[in-house]
Amino acid sequence: MSRVLIIGAGGVGRVVTHKCAQLPEVFSEIWLASRTVEKCDQVAAEIENNIHTAQVDADKTQDLVELIKRISPKLVINVALPYQDLTIMDACLETGADYLDTANYEPLDEAKFEYKWQWDYQDRFKSAGLTALLGSGFDPGVTNVFCAYAQKHYFDTIEFIDILDANAGDHGHAFATNFNPEINIREITANGRYWENGTWKETEPLSVKNTFDFPVIGPKDAYLMYHEELESLIQNFDGLKRIRFWMTFSEQYLTHLKVLENVGMTRIDPVTYEGKEIVPLQFLKALLPDPASLGERTKGKTCIGCIVSGKKDGEARTIYMYNICDHEACYEEVNSQAISYSTGVPAMIGAKQILSGNWKKEGVWNIEQLDPDAFMQDLNNYGLPWEIQELDQHPEL
Ligand code: NDP
Repeated sequence: MSRVLIIGAGGVGRVVTHKCAQLPEVFSEIWLASRTVEKCDQVAAEIENNIHTAQVDADKTQDLVELIKRISPKLVINVALPYQDLTIMDACLETGADYLDTANYEPLDEAKFEYKWQWDYQDRFKSAGLTALLGSGFDPGVTNVFCAYAQKHYFDTIEFIDILDANAGDHGHAFATNFNPEINIREITANGRYWENGTWKETEPLSVKNTFDFPVIGPKDAYLMYHEELESLIQNFDGLKRIRFWMTFSEQYLTHLKVLENVGMTRIDPVTYEGKEIVPLQFLKALLPDPASLGERTKGKTCIGCIVSGKKDGEARTIYMYNICDHEACYEEVNSQAISYSTGVPAMIGAKQILSGNWKKEGVWNIEQLDPDAFMQDLNNYGLPWEIQELDQHPEL
């Protein structure tokens, strides 16, 4: 029985709150705090259990410290934005709370994805006897756990990993992003990067494309991108020769994105407009549909997973591990589309592992460093069932 504080009442925060509320035997008291308290109250009103709400500016460590001291949660689940990771980690250290997030820290003025800032907290969390679990969403998150499970049960050595993230959902808008537009567009417009034979290889943004025939949703164009889990996975799997990340986008999405980029709307540096400084990407976010509003309009499914190849008992082996998630079913359950759902459910499951003691380990951990079995079981129990297919060989991508 444990008290949790969820920070961030956006698309993912809504799902985490709903899912924690479904397990009162684990999450005995739930607090939801965010910059705009009305959004917390809206989520709380959707749920039968009593959800406590609060206002907080998570950019301010001292405000967080005061809130955490007042509530005294065992664990803080950070589903605000990556910019707040370090202030929330600082506040957890000062107040003695465990920490969990779904995205690695990013400075506001530079689209730079790196775990270093958070890995630097290792000694402080260890000596405080606290746990920080990094990347407990779907990707990063479930995809990392899939790799850990593959290593534990299917391989002696993993050599090749391709992570494939496909969304065949249709929300009916000409252009919208499925999670925070600012974070999403910063990620997609960055250079592609993958790791091969011990070095990073860079590609122009969205310049490498392959068509892949996904289970259930069929063939889709997938583009090579850099994604943060690559950085931790190369540290944690000896023998790895290559790892890449692919995401699907429609022609329509890419055409809109190209135009927005060409006219400067995706810039993250401030420009002066009528005597006032504005960041074009933040202004664009104000114009685009709120991802949290897409749920009731989105139809179709996602398919996210990993193709993993390597050796078992001297023999070559390839497996494909994936989850299919249905946008409409997610909306029916928790008023949210599948992207927020498939991020929020693993955040709840990661939190459950820490609170139950299974993952209560001092220090800062990427999720693949912890035993995958109970987490994998919980994916099946709490809404994200997975499949494993044996393939003849690693597909040409
Ligand atoms: P949203 O933009 O929908 O929600 C973010 C929430 O955080 C909003 O409610 C926002 O408040 C709040 N917030 C922002 N800044 C502050 C602040 N300074 N203090 C307090 N609250 C703040 O984003 P999502 O829910 O789509 O995404 C949440 C997180 O999940 C992001 O970090 C994203 O990168 C991550 N993510 C991870 C995935 C994974 O698979 N690992 C996939 C998808 C998302 P307000 O309402 O006032 O703006």
